[in-house]
Amino acid sequence: MNTTDAMNTTNAGAAAGPARLWIDWTACDGRGWCVELLPELLTRDPAGYPLARGTTGQSTRKITVSTELIEHARRAADACPRLALHLLAGQEQG
Ligand code: SF4
Repeated sequence: MNTTDAMNTTNAGAAAGPARLWIDWTACDGRGWCVELLPELLTRDPAGYPLARGTTGQSTRKITVSTELIEHARRAADACPRLALHLLAGQEQG
């Protein structure tokens, strides 16, 4: 991950454009706290790890976040006990 594109957690408000969530699988413990905080976008695989909800065929690591859900996504990322969930500016390329 390029740390320069991480969103400022205190500055990105409703005026910000679409964003994306990126999960660091090497850090994630799979307990699913983020899924409980952000059920609009996340679900769990059989082992408990978070996946993008309803995105069959797409990457499960980078999850597009609509402008309306940015604040919810930020709260979920900030609450991750393993610092494994990252809210990034812009949409996934490719
Ligand atoms: S809250 Fe963090 S550590 Fe827990 S399942 Fe979500 S991404 Fe993984």
